[in-house]
Amino acid sequence: MQRRELFTRLCQTAAALAWQQVFASSARAQAADAGSWAESGEVFTLGVASGEPRPNSVVLWTRLAPRPLTPDGGMPARAVPVLWEVALDERFDNVVRYGATVADPATAHSVHVDVAGLLPGRTYFYRFRAGGQLSPVGRTRTAPDPAERVERLRIAVASCQHYEIGYFTVHREIAAADVDLVIFLGDYIYETETASYQKVRQHPHVFPGEESHYTLGDYRAHHASYKLDPDLRACHAAHPWLLVWDDHEVANDYAGLTDPDLPDPQAFLKLRTAAYQAYFEHLPVSPARAPVGAFMRMHDHFEWGQLADIWTVDGRQFRDPHVCSGIHAPDGGKALWRCKTAEDPDRTMLGTQQEYWLAEGLASSERAWKIVAQPTQIAPGGVKTPWGPLLYADGWDAYPAARERLMAAIAQPRVPDVVCLSGDVHRHAAANLRLNPLDLSSPIVASEFVTSSVSSKGLSEFLSGLLKSSNPDLLHVRGDERGYALLDVSPRQLTCEFRSTPHPVRPDARLRTQARFVVDRGVPGPRKV
Ligand code: FE
Ligand code: CA
Repeated sequence: MQRRELFTRLCQTAAALAWQQVFASSARAQAADAGSWAESGEVFTLGVASGEPRPNSVVLWTRLAPRPLTPDGGMPARAVPVLWEVALDERFDNVVRYGATVADPATAHSVHVDVAGLLPGRTYFYRFRAGGQLSPVGRTRTAPDPAERVERLRIAVASCQHYEIGYFTVHREIAAADVDLVIFLGDYIYETETASYQKVRQHPHVFPGEESHYTLGDYRAHHASYKLDPDLRACHAAHPWLLVWDDHEVANDYAGLTDPDLPDPQAFLKLRTAAYQAYFEHLPVSPARAPVGAFMRMHDHFEWGQLADIWTVDGRQFRDPHVCSGIHAPDGGKALWRCKTAEDPDRTMLGTQQEYWLAEGLASSERAWKIVAQPTQIAPGGVKTPWGPLLYADGWDAYPAARERLMAAIAQPRVPDVVCLSGDVHRHAAANLRLNPLDLSSPIVASEFVTSSVSSKGLSEFLSGLLKSSNPDLLHVRGDERGYALLDVSPRQLTCEFRSTPHPVRPDARLRTQARFVVDRGVPGPRKV
């Protein structure tokens, strides 16, 4: 070892030791500063989380909330100091990064730390200290070096967790599973109570009846309600997450700047601002995503060695409004029938900028797999009738020109090995994505795996069968069970295992494998095994 290097190491060790003193001894000083707020009980009621792993960095999250369901979370109206540390071991003997930050009332005393200077492909442990209390320990993992020939990537893919309709047993299994990453595709909270479905438990916080009365305080308390679930907290603490959102984080079926249930654009803008703000405050997303008014950039790109490019795609914020009045289903969904306006070639799902960004990314990718994580089913999912198909008004079926452009962005530059991940529709599904959907002579250009919901109600077996027989591109459709999709990615093959349990999810449920599909490199389309 060079003398200079030795000196640097000694300095680093001394600094780390000094930090450990600070981290340990700050308990009393912090407690004294805390006054009554930290004495009223547990400060880290909402747990800890990490997300957006990159080769040298990861985002750490927590929120101080001794009384999580109250408007101020039980915190004083001032900023309070929070210490954080990252170690190689669970006992924090080997601390490699540490620092201090503040939790501010303007962001509900949430903390988002983008920790830089980490090593690629490593497991790390992290924790916070505030109000004289230590947080639970979280575990996370950085992405491998972008040039590394990685042999394996395991991802748990989940979406749609209506708190009232089932337990989060799916998260309990994922928390204990050997995965590198959790990808959550949206409907993290549900703003609506369930009227027509069987309830297994009640939202700890309930929104007022009228959407126009929803406040930032309501969204905060609602997010806090979800985080009070121990299985969800465990899943956050166990793995880094990548996040995509859908409609229920704001309001059912909202599209861009419009909401069918709140026609006043000013009122909806206020609602979206509040919802995005609370979403940011409660999830392990980069501090750079802090919303500006009613806008928050969610779409992004991540790399996993030479094995995969992963895009997280926003299908909500920039999409065009719903068209045609449609036929309302009892579950709040809407079906379109003979709606010519939906076919308008200008209609967009992702917004022009994001669409170009994704197309460019796909065309220039040189990694083995191209994984596109986005909210809702891309493959057609309508129901055939003698008078024409009934289409789901909120899905890609109602934006056919946008879907055509997405397929062309894969087919024209001949981007191989594209796998799309989808949620929203509460069913496990596997599909061939064709250049011209439902045209069996049209080439298959990509594969799609749709994950069922964590808890939200899906379709009966009869309706799932009807969807499958109406859409030959769908290779598998099961809406009667809840669960998640477990992906195992290797340089030659990608496996998707649909994990599931009967509806509604019981607290002691055991998940089983409902079906297993593989995609071979160079051969688009899932194959059942
Ligand atoms: Fe949903
Ligand atoms: Ca949805």
